[in-house]
Amino acid sequence: MSRKYSHVVVVGIDGAGAWVKDADTPHFDRIFANGAVTYGALSSNPSISAECWGSMLLGVGPEIHKLTNGIVSSTPYPTDSPFPSLFRRIREVYPDAELGSYCDWNPITYGIVENNIGVSHDTAKDDELTPIICDYIRNKKPEFLFIQLDSVDGAGHKHGYGTPEFLARLNVVDGYVNDIYNACDEAGIIEETLFIVIADHGGTNPGNGQGGSHGGWTDGEKYVTFAATGKTVNNIKIEEMNIRDLAAIVLYAFGIEEPQFDEKGWTSQIPAGLFDDKNIPPYRDISHLTGAAPRISKVPHTSELI
Ligand SMILES: [Zn+2]
Repeated sequence: MSRKYSHVVVVGIDGAGAWVKDADTPHFDRIFANGAVTYGALSSNPSISAECWGSMLLGVGPEIHKLTNGIVSSTPYPTDSPFPSLFRRIREVYPDAELGSYCDWNPITYGIVENNIGVSHDTAKDDELTPIICDYIRNKKPEFLFIQLDSVDGAGHKHGYGTPEFLARLNVVDGYVNDIYNACDEAGIIEETLFIVIADHGGTNPGNGQGGSHGGWTDGEKYVTFAATGKTVNNIKIEEMNIRDLAAIVLYAFGIEEPQFDEKGWTSQIPAGLFDDKNIPPYRDISHLTGAAPRISKVPHTSELI
């Protein structure tokens, strides 16, 4: 496999669910106008941050990686895990690559990314973190940059997901997505960048001004936004995708061969039609893998393929 992109930038918007389609997000709409978008990507079950970000960065579901918010907050991600993070997989192939993990919720960098493989990192509330990220992009031109912005999820917990207050916060964060995209442009790397926005899960809205929550499997919790743009990204609506497919997408961009489905529980694959490349295998129903490998639990896969 040849390398397709010099740079991959992933902007994760925690708790955004599918509400990007309802919020006023002019920058998102413009950036991805010629890209591939879905508001129906499937989250991980349970729809909780560690489980979900773990699925994306490791390429295996929670039934396999077994990470929880408690674990990632208290335990550095093991450097000898049979499920290496994207950072380790990229580092092993590109020893000199500039890699960055800039997360508002720092347990991602601490508990899902190996701590000793030279990943640049910082953490702050997303209002303060975004300018730091933009400086980092302009100065270091990172080859792989993973970002998590947390304030939309905070608005959901406080006001309910999908409420006017929640959508207003999504509008603010849309501006941060624009700042990050523009920093890539100012760094002179945007033409060679695969630029992605993804949410980990959505949440609930109990009404009556009560705060929302997530962790369950209602439509508001399980359907999320994914969008990609880049020189080989097709202008399509993605029909079928799981958030853990992010891992396969990023590895493809770097020309790194992904593990096979039956090896170590890997269940990440590239959505149909995402890239202009006929060599990508068709998106497969992987329900037959349920129980086929010792590490795969009885958590059904079929229902996850929307
Ligand atoms: Zn989350």
